[in-house]
Amino acid sequence: MASINPFQMAQQQFDEVAEQLELSDNITRILRWPLREFHFQIPVQMDDGSMECFRGYRIQHNDALGPCKGGIRFHPAETVDTVRALGTWMTWKCAVADIPLGGGKGGVIVDPSGLSDAEKQRLCRGWIDQMWRNIGPRIDVPAPDVGTTPQMMGWMMDQYSKLIGEYTPGVITGKPLGGGGSKGRTEATGFGVVVTTREALKHLELDPKACRASLQGFGNVAQYAAKFYKELLGVTVVAVSCWDRRDKRSYTFYREKGLDYAFLQSITDQYGTIDKAKAKEAGVSIEDADAWLSKEVEILVPAAIESVITKDTVGLIKGSVKVVAEGANGPCTPNADDHFRKSGAFVIPDILCNAGGVTCSYFEGVQNDMNFYWELDEVINNLDKKMTNAFASVVQMADKRGVYTRNAAYMVAIDRVVRGMELRGWI
Ligand code: NAD
Repeated sequence: MASINPFQMAQQQFDEVAEQLELSDNITRILRWPLREFHFQIPVQMDDGSMECFRGYRIQHNDALGPCKGGIRFHPAETVDTVRALGTWMTWKCAVADIPLGGGKGGVIVDPSGLSDAEKQRLCRGWIDQMWRNIGPRIDVPAPDVGTTPQMMGWMMDQYSKLIGEYTPGVITGKPLGGGGSKGRTEATGFGVVVTTREALKHLELDPKACRASLQGFGNVAQYAAKFYKELLGVTVVAVSCWDRRDKRSYTFYREKGLDYAFLQSITDQYGTIDKAKAKEAGVSIEDADAWLSKEVEILVPAAIESVITKDTVGLIKGSVKVVAEGANGPCTPNADDHFRKSGAFVIPDILCNAGGVTCSYFEGVQNDMNFYWELDEVINNLDKKMTNAFASVVQMADKRGVYTRNAAYMVAIDRVVRGMELRGWI
């Protein structure tokens, strides 16, 4: 994973499609790089009285279609290029989902599991202290990502509101329920993964009840994907893999007859680490980190981190795999794409597959603006419609131009962003 630079990968994906679309040099120059970048230090007083300086970032890739939108990731291996890549993907994701927002992303180099709640709160408030002049409901709206939680978004919203002098829930999404959050936000990304899988299986004329799935990750996205695979589609989830914080390595949890996601959830901590001893007691076998990739399944769901299906690991994947649903951002490298082009597996690209989260975040902002909150069924129905329409627009583009699904999703997105820039007179 260390050898692949995610931003170079994002640029490579863009370049390939820019060439196919014959974009002008001017347009390409604007879209290959973020429009704005913020790099800063966040001094935080630690509980023992010492002071630590954390490195923070916010990338605003493009806001032609609306305010930038994208999460804030707290991760020890965070790099500016990871944040650039994620910010770029957000531009394409919002455009594929057809929501009036641009792309942004934030990050802090930190392992949040090593901080107390009070330290986490001071770090969140410190991030806002550095960025509040450059974010806002009409400028750039952050949200949670890996290592950040709804509670943290609540602290950040509070800090922004104090600095700006008025209650401004729309500055950040993914807030807790009762604190300006939207019903359905927690499960939205996993739900979107399942809606797009449902549409892919329909497209391939496969019966979901006869399908098995293997997932990487058991955090927010994967847990809800596992739940809805079972509840909405009747898909059997046989394997999940996750990072073990104590052993500092990952494992695969496997049960041929299917894993009980509710039980697994009950033995998983807030960072997505499953308790091995309790899983073993319940008859779940514990296997190697990469075992999730080599299971005989029809649906493969990388839903943890970027650059996991590479030229070194793609050979592990069985011929039974018909759908690859990219719950995570950037899990497949260009080498993996080459493999899937040949194998014919239907790849639901990340900018489509995991767009449920940002779409629900958009709904949250709409509700904050109206100061009127929807019931869960309204959120879910609107989300289902948006994800189904987004899937259809990508498949139509793939058919029309005879291209790979990732390129088709990029084409849908780039068309919309370029049109937005034209209408604003940028180009
Ligand atoms: P999370 O922090 O809740 O969970 C991450 C999971 O990945 C954990 O179970 C962790 O153990 C596991 N993991 C980490 N490193 C691993 C490794 N090397 N091998 C196996 N498992 C590993 O994060 P999340 O919110 O579920 O996000 C997962 C992915 O989905 C990320 O790429 C994120 O950017 C993307 N995503 C999240 C959302 C959202 O709404 N949460 C929206 C869009 C995209």
